[in-house]
Amino acid sequence: MISIAIDGPAGAGKSTIAKRLSAEFGFIYVDTGALYRAVGLYALRQGLTQLNAQTVPPLLPQITVKLKFVDGLQRVFLNDQDVSEAIRQNEVSMAASDVSAIPAVREFLFELQRNIAKENNIVMDGRDIGTVVLPNADVKIFLTASPEVRAHRRHLELLEKGQSVDFQQLLEEIKTRDHNDSTRAVAPLKQAEDAVLVDSSDLTLEEAVSAAADTV
Ligand code: C5P
Repeated sequence: MISIAIDGPAGAGKSTIAKRLSAEFGFIYVDTGALYRAVGLYALRQGLTQLNAQTVPPLLPQITVKLKFVDGLQRVFLNDQDVSEAIRQNEVSMAASDVSAIPAVREFLFELQRNIAKENNIVMDGRDIGTVVLPNADVKIFLTASPEVRAHRRHLELLEKGQSVDFQQLLEEIKTRDHNDSTRAVAPLKQAEDAVLVDSSDLTLEEAVSAAADTV
């Protein structure tokens, strides 16, 4: 099986580019952020306000997370309920970032990611795919862009979905998530030594897709 790993910070365009590559090559696109979002959503729904290594691990035995692929598109199931849309709410982003720093949560989701890659040709995006989940991936891309450009893209994306969030707030959230994701003790966000860097700050979507496709 062939694996293409795309890592990078929030809003760099990973999912857009991963979708395009997977369509081009006929691979399955696996969005691993959705798994952390599902765990974060569950914790929020349980009424937790502090998401940490004391509060979240006791919930894990109550949770099953599954991915299904319908026409090549990923759907996420939390205890057999389709939460693919619910996990996209903005407050779930922070919850996902919080739970993703908890080692027990990362262990909980690890096998699921590995198994999908064992059985399918995939483009998988996340933060630690090239470094931890699939260190032997055939292609590794580290996709980044400046925080301002990423906040601007997120802002437009949310507006298109009818969610109006203040730009400054989004920028602060992106910076906080970057900091959390890159300084956590387990599987921090970092470029794998053998990953190709693509900085999309000054690229159009088409240019970024071409840069990634050329790398593959
Ligand atoms: O990619 P997305 O923004 O949906 O991811 C949500 C959160 O999940 C990220 O902020 C990050 O903290 C976490 N995550 C992770 N490892 C991955 C994918 C996502 O820690 N492989």
